[in-house]
Amino acid sequence: MNIDSAQIPPDVLSVCARLRAAGHQAHLVGGGIRDLLLGRQPADFDVATDAHPQQVLALFGSRYAVPTGLQHGTVTVVTEVAGGDGAATATSAATLSAATTVSDAPGGVGDLAPSRVHRHVEVTTFRGEGAYIDGRRPTSVTYVGSLQEDLSRRDFTMNAIGYDPISTVLTDPFEGRQDLARRRVRAVGDAEARFREDGLRPMRAIRQATQLEFEIDPPTLRAIRPTLDVFRKVSAERIRDEVLKLLSARRPSTGIELMRHTGMLAEVLPELLEGVGVAQNRFHKHDVYDHTLAVVDAMGADAVTKLGALLHDIGKPRARQPREGAPGEFTFFKHEYVGAEMADAVCRRFKLSNADRDRVVALVHHHMFFYTPDWTDGTVRRFVRRVGPDVLPALFALREGDIVGRGRDEDPESELGELRRRIAVVSAEDSATRVGDLAIDGRDVMRILGRGPGREIGILLERLLEQVLDDPSLNTPAHLERLLREIVPPPAS
Ligand code: ATP
Ligand code: MG
Repeated sequence: MNIDSAQIPPDVLSVCARLRAAGHQAHLVGGGIRDLLLGRQPADFDVATDAHPQQVLALFGSRYAVPTGLQHGTVTVVTEVAGGDGAATATSAATLSAATTVSDAPGGVGDLAPSRVHRHVEVTTFRGEGAYIDGRRPTSVTYVGSLQEDLSRRDFTMNAIGYDPISTVLTDPFEGRQDLARRRVRAVGDAEARFREDGLRPMRAIRQATQLEFEIDPPTLRAIRPTLDVFRKVSAERIRDEVLKLLSARRPSTGIELMRHTGMLAEVLPELLEGVGVAQNRFHKHDVYDHTLAVVDAMGADAVTKLGALLHDIGKPRARQPREGAPGEFTFFKHEYVGAEMADAVCRRFKLSNADRDRVVALVHHHMFFYTPDWTDGTVRRFVRRVGPDVLPALFALREGDIVGRGRDEDPESELGELRRRIAVVSAEDSATRVGDLAIDGRDVMRILGRGPGREIGILLERLLEQVLDDPSLNTPAHLERLLREIVPPPAS
């Protein structure tokens, strides 16, 4: 297992070369090197150096170097990716995907050529472990003199490998390559001590094992449960980010099961455990919990949509009732309402953005739709209106996962294709789906009826919309005025 410096993109090489030419060390470290050794496309390249942040800033100048994390000793160097303007082809498209365009660049670099593709290389001074008071974050950063010391404070052996691409020297003091070959996540040093320093590390172990489809080395795995008291102190945002990365993996169920067996799931998402052993009915071979994991594994979707899927049946255990006259069977009447409320609470706990929370809650709330061919176009329009056009693709992804996750070899397309096509048709016709789309507004309603403002004006507009949803041709001022006069007959004189 080795690295060829030809695998390092030229712009990253030149950052290292510049540091070296100024008499400093420059080693590529962390996930980028791990991914290269695994033959994967690195997401990003991080450089560790003995130069202090001020020296890095001075060396690259304010046009290219941005002090993005001085408190951690980090300076971001913005590079121009070769071939980013489409002229050269020295850089593969895959490398470009790890880069960003200049619009993402942090402040101070706005005068870089806007048509080029830029990459952010994080250059961090060799760091030691600051004192952790509470397992949340180091209270201070200490710089250390050597790469060895810097690598020894890193979390896992596979993440503690350095590569100097100029001298082509690889530094692997903890046998990270051997663990990569054995496909193991193993803590650097004593796992329990390392997990006590930073309570997020056990969750990173589970997340990275899930992403890479690795095992966790037994002593590292065993250290998770006894350090949960430290994990409990980690901020919600850091945990949320890990949960979302875990959900982006191909089989999130592996990680969720690891969380369950180590006691971590009870800390992060105890609601999910309520579904363990909760049998459903003869249509489901799985309990609620296993069914949920099967759905999430079967889905191709973004992490927030997968979170919605993970929570879609979260209300079932609390809503479950024995089915009358059918011993051993249950109903889950209104579980989507119970679930939407629980999902809302989970999203708030995770401090998700409002937009993400809305999508997750909408998915849970609307997952119980049952299309039949006798739906009128009006029913289809009402469905689109209720769910919201933005949420529909996620809702379909969830249902596809649900169909595949039932494990009965059904084809999602045969169940969903017709509704999908009908939605496309009604969406293309540019008809009103909201009160604001109507050809008249509240002021028109007041004028036509000779009334002042009040709650009833909004209610009347809703009633007009109901009719327009069934027949979009009614959405003209003349038709709506006639309809309005039918709904509200003139007072008898
Ligand atoms: P990815 O970016 O694919 O999620 P990564 O390993 O690059 O994985 P980052 O969060 O980008 O993860 O961190 C970069 C490197 O910093 C890691 O490879 C590891 O060496 C170190 N690191 C990150 N978080 C911690 C931590 N909590 N404790 C110790 N070292 C860490
Ligand atoms: Mg990384």
